[in-house]
Amino acid sequence: MTGNKISTGDASGDLRPHLWRNARLATLEQQKLGLGIIEKGAIVTENGRLTFVGPEADLPVAAIERAQITDLEGRWVTPGLVDCHTHIVYGGNRAREFEMRLQGATYEEIARAGGGIVSSVKATNALSVEGLVEAALPRLDTLLSEGLTTIEIKSGYGLSVDGELKMLRAARRLERVRAVRVVTSYLGAHATPVEYKGRNADYITDVVIPALQNAHAEHLVDAVDGFCETIAFSTAEITRVFDRAAALGLPVKLHAEQLSNLGGAKLAASYKALSADHLEYLDPEGARAMAEAGTVAVLLPGAFYAINEKQKPPLQALRDAGAHIAIATDCNPGTSPLTSLLLTMNMSATLFGLTVEECIAGVTREGARALGLLDETGTLETGKSADFAVWDVESLAELVYRIGFNPLHAHVFKGERIDH
Ligand SMILES: [Zn+2]
Repeated sequence: MTGNKISTGDASGDLRPHLWRNARLATLEQQKLGLGIIEKGAIVTENGRLTFVGPEADLPVAAIERAQITDLEGRWVTPGLVDCHTHIVYGGNRAREFEMRLQGATYEEIARAGGGIVSSVKATNALSVEGLVEAALPRLDTLLSEGLTTIEIKSGYGLSVDGELKMLRAARRLERVRAVRVVTSYLGAHATPVEYKGRNADYITDVVIPALQNAHAEHLVDAVDGFCETIAFSTAEITRVFDRAAALGLPVKLHAEQLSNLGGAKLAASYKALSADHLEYLDPEGARAMAEAGTVAVLLPGAFYAINEKQKPPLQALRDAGAHIAIATDCNPGTSPLTSLLLTMNMSATLFGLTVEECIAGVTREGARALGLLDETGTLETGKSADFAVWDVESLAELVYRIGFNPLHAHVFKGERIDH
């Protein structure tokens, strides 16, 4: 993996519009049914924006005369992929722990051997901002090789004021060293550090709130997240964090109903959260509350698979309620060491029963919606950022159907073709 760079061809100072013709477009446009397919389509980009998306027959003559032209030879084009839930910045890994589990070790034995989230906190805090960036780059590059153009990155392995700030600085830095849009989420309320064991309220007072204030002052926070679970934080504790987020004018989201039903999704909806994520134990009432609030349901099949969960998220209840559904990798060292959105789509279909349309929308339009970025990216519509992926497939279903196969042909971010 060599990482991605803007190709020299596009960085050479050619400021003409770029016409990408002879394409089959999946625009994901909201007003159209399904994937918004346009056969014999074309895209024009200028100054990083989409200035035309439609049938080639409708192209304005002026656009053709001035443009540099790329013939896509009938290939499929989708919006650039969006991974709306990751913990991609961390130190170390948990392969040893994985191995111990395979040899029959219990969670308690693993914890005694220094495993679990504690080990990720230790390994993360041992690295500098540069070290965290270096550690995250191979994971980010793997996602980029599949046409990723936007990624959400959470803190939550620092669990101290300095540690959380360092993770968020590393996340911001990644946006400067790769051609990708990074959205950060502050996740101080991820776990209770050892020194605060049994004292969640003190941890929130001493660390979670002050780190949030400092990170916000440094413009490091785009949204505030939490982990609402019996092994993490209660709804009352999350409420304190969300109230502070609201006071700072920051949107919220929540890890909810992953292992039990605490009513986290309903709480998130009451704050008009961007998303509630995981949701295996969500009930129909929670699904309705989310749909009414416009809170996106983010399903994470990587974690479901890796922890061998049996309870599936209530897909039909979410559909019946009219909730928007996104899917994401949840890339993290403990419960979802997954760095492929193509595989995430396949898992969402195979394990959860999502349709091909739901899978493709889940990593494009709905992922962007879950990040509050739908005005900027996630669909192919005039005026938005020119973020798209070109695929060597006969049909879009192949993107979901294949396992361990990457048919990316070209990758465009803000109008620039990206080399891999
Ligand atoms: Zn997560």
